[in-house]
Amino acid sequence: MGRVIAISNQKGGVGKTTTAINLSACLAEKQQKVLVIDMDPQGNATSGLGVEKASVEHSSYEVLLDDISITDAMERSVCDNLYVVPSERGLAGAEIELIGKNEREYVLKEKVDQVKDQFDFIIIDCPPSLNILTVNAMTTADTVLVPIQCEYYALEGLSELLYTIELVKERLNSKLEIEGVVFTMYDARTCLSLQVVENVKENLQQNIYKTIIPRNIRLAEAPSYGMPINLYDSKSAGAEGYRNLAEEVLERGKE
Ligand code: ADP
Ligand code: MG
Repeated sequence: MGRVIAISNQKGGVGKTTTAINLSACLAEKQQKVLVIDMDPQGNATSGLGVEKASVEHSSYEVLLDDISITDAMERSVCDNLYVVPSERGLAGAEIELIGKNEREYVLKEKVDQVKDQFDFIIIDCPPSLNILTVNAMTTADTVLVPIQCEYYALEGLSELLYTIELVKERLNSKLEIEGVVFTMYDARTCLSLQVVENVKENLQQNIYKTIIPRNIRLAEAPSYGMPINLYDSKSAGAEGYRNLAEEVLERGKE
């Protein structure tokens, strides 16, 4: 059975999509069969994995609202072993359209359960809000991985996120756990980054990955070439970071 990991933090720009793309690609590089489900209407995980949004036949929007299966919607990415359920702009309207649906918190889960045994990992890139799309992702997931940007307001909004995870666990998905927290965009030249890491470690009783993702320009460039970091610049600090994270995620799975 594949492990389903939702990558979530309602703050925008903290590195969710970058983590979804590159963690998935590095897991695939380690011979894991991986599916990425893009649940953000922006579709950056889709394009960042080399899937042309214009040429997409079916999307996560249709998986949620139509009679389209994950297998129907799935596309090959630029990496071996790595598949993507692409997103499209229309997904932004899904929140309203889901209102009329029965069991609307479970629509994604039902679809994912049908393919769970075909993958080692299913990684869901969540939108920057705690809306019904995120709730669907958390209802589907085994665990939530939370990227935290190394900046001054890092902890802001985190209690809301943890509360949402707790609510989903109580009401919709009793098995949900926190996979872990990963620090992103760490800048070794500033004391601020270091302070943020220490402050979060003191205040958060969660698994925190040993791997800290550095701020690395190559990570920011790679998506415009439609490539994850291990293909775009295999020797970069960013690639090393996400390879180490993938290793830790694999190790944690064995526990
Ligand atoms: P989110 O999905 O949480 O909104 P993104 O992953 O899209 O965040 O990241 C926001 C921006 O920061 C993007 O332009 C991305 O390329 C850049 N970025 C993310 N992680 C890094 C990093 N480690 N180093 C440099 N730039 C990064
Ligand atoms: Mg994103």
